[in-house]
Amino acid sequence: MNIILLGPPGAGKGTQAKRLVDERNMIQLSTGDMLREARTSGTEMGNKVAAIMDAGELVTDEIVIGLIEEKLAGDAGGGFIFDGFPRTLAQADALGELLARKGARLDRVVEMQVDDDELVKRITGRFTCGNCGEGYHDEFKRPKTPDVCDVCGESQMKRRADDNEESLRTRLMEYYKKTSPLIGYYYAKGNLKGVNGLGSIEEVAAEIAGALE
Ligand code: AMP
Repeated sequence: MNIILLGPPGAGKGTQAKRLVDERNMIQLSTGDMLREARTSGTEMGNKVAAIMDAGELVTDEIVIGLIEEKLAGDAGGGFIFDGFPRTLAQADALGELLARKGARLDRVVEMQVDDDELVKRITGRFTCGNCGEGYHDEFKRPKTPDVCDVCGESQMKRRADDNEESLRTRLMEYYKKTSPLIGYYYAKGNLKGVNGLGSIEEVAAEIAGALE
């Protein structure tokens, strides 16, 4: 099964994608994670995208479509979860073509609905363990011992450079201008399901499971 998790920054796409990976043996394709990896590698592409990402703007369609194309050539496991891709209509068209070329198709697009005030709260307080990637939040999920990861004991926590209020405002604007039209696009194609993204991680996971049935 190939699915898209669609929603604004902070909707919980990455968190829910990781659960689906564990529970269903699916493969998470997060263009945000791929781009963050590229920028630490010091490649020409990595340097080019770093400033764009920090400002909260979208990197070019050409770059992200290229990244996805490479990953789609690999094993599909229990299916792909597209997380943070597509973000523009051009990317959505490209994804349709890439899947068709593989003889595959998109089974479901899950739109995660969360209101803007909640998104700002979630994003401005979030951080992750620098070692194992476990996610935390200043208000909603603090580690048992301050700054020590509950899972692996590591004491180096990381915050994303673009999780500040100014970049977030740009990211939300980019979402509404360029990504939200995909809701109508996939509705018209007949594979859109909306879920309430406001509950606990478990509640949202249950909603998503229902949407994938
Ligand atoms: P994310 O981790 O999905 O929030 O993505 C972080 C940043 O990476 C975004 O704000 C964009 O700058 C860039 N990015 C990730 N995915 C895409 C995409 N599909 N198209 C364009 N830019 C992207």
